[in-house]
Amino acid sequence: MFYDTASALFGVAGLRVTDADPRPDGVVEVWAVTDCAGAACCPDCGAESSRVHEMVACRPRDVRRAGGQVELNWVKCRLKCENGECGRKTFTERIPVVPPGARVLPRVKDQCAGEVADRGIPPAEAARHAGVSWPVAHAAFAARADAVLGSPPAPVAHLGIDEHRRGRPRWETDPGTGEYRLLADRWHVNFCDLSGAQGMIGQVEGRTADDTAYWLALAPPAWRDRIEVVAIDMCAIFLSAVRRTLPRAQVAVDLFHVVQLAVKAAADVRRRATREKYGRRGREGDPEYGLKGLLNRNLESLSPEQFWKVIETLDGDAHGQQIAIAWIAKEKLRAALNLRKRITRSQPCERQVRDRLFTFYDWCAAHEDIPELVTLAKTIARWEQQIVTAVLTGVTNAATESLNRIAKLEARLAYGFRNPASQRRRVQIACTRGKRRPPRTATSRTKRTVTKQKQTPG
Ligand SMILES: [Zn+2]
Repeated sequence: MFYDTASALFGVAGLRVTDADPRPDGVVEVWAVTDCAGAACCPDCGAESSRVHEMVACRPRDVRRAGGQVELNWVKCRLKCENGECGRKTFTERIPVVPPGARVLPRVKDQCAGEVADRGIPPAEAARHAGVSWPVAHAAFAARADAVLGSPPAPVAHLGIDEHRRGRPRWETDPGTGEYRLLADRWHVNFCDLSGAQGMIGQVEGRTADDTAYWLALAPPAWRDRIEVVAIDMCAIFLSAVRRTLPRAQVAVDLFHVVQLAVKAAADVRRRATREKYGRRGREGDPEYGLKGLLNRNLESLSPEQFWKVIETLDGDAHGQQIAIAWIAKEKLRAALNLRKRITRSQPCERQVRDRLFTFYDWCAAHEDIPELVTLAKTIARWEQQIVTAVLTGVTNAATESLNRIAKLEARLAYGFRNPASQRRRVQIACTRGKRRPPRTATSRTKRTVTKQKQTPG
């Protein structure tokens, strides 16, 4: 309860502002006294006292006002306990919103916690702005983050799994052989809600099938049963972990990686054919080299002129024809993937997808003299079921990849992490920020008529 305007603006319940003095250096010095029922009660026996022993000033750190620093001087009484049977001789006034002995007002910690958790500011910067130490700011953030992240995730229909490197790998030189030896290469696997708005729902250190399966096995069976589709990269480790712990879920591979593989195979053929033709690597001026960018593009993105440029350049000799065959193989594979609903606006049927994949295998088999195509076809055949699932369900791992980007950004903002638990907390809070953010609303432009105006004194 505030009784005057200055105290209401200052906004610490239980303190009454007696004076505010803006200094030339921008610091506002605020003087306040205790104004709270029960502030003069002994903390041990609860008896109210009116015997003042001495006046003391305490100066807890407060938040800034309009950018300027605030120096709070809280003048409070040290009172003598009037209860003869109480063991305590003296005590100072205390108010509920400031814990006894606090050197920082709770709202400073709240501000630090909010800046780190909701605004993505590193704890060091939040601490510097608030004028507190890093441990104070970090502890405030950790308390808030743990309260938010501690609750188990809501059911997830589509789960995304991906990995990212934690920091840099460390190497040392073997004194015997002089070769590099890997000392540490640390990874985090993250789990993401693809069907809802929960963002990142979990992380685990390491990137083996056991690490991944461990996290999934820890989840309640009822939660695991609700998972219908799991999206992964073309990574056998994740597949094995999902097979073990989520036997009923369908697995979809991210189609971006499938296309990436086909583009890479076509580029490999182009490089090999160029080397065979010229006896050196391709360079500017070679006709094949000029097609580099066009061959990576989707067929439908090429203009008729660009399309004919590709055909005319590659039709000239056997080397060019090899490149063209690889390029067509890529497009045949894409034709199967392009049956997904997002592109055709109609639900694809499994038979159709498999037919188009068969056309792709058939093409690769007809050109088995190109080893890159044989390898590509074998890989696609190994992942066929997961590719078909991805096309039929339309589930992609794009959201997980975008969270990976945030995770890496967070590590850069922090200049790397020493403590993996700390890194996981910071990454997960960053990757769930969207869920906690309130919806953006425009400020109302309508003018309000002031009906009740305070009379100015005098
Ligand atoms: Zn007492």
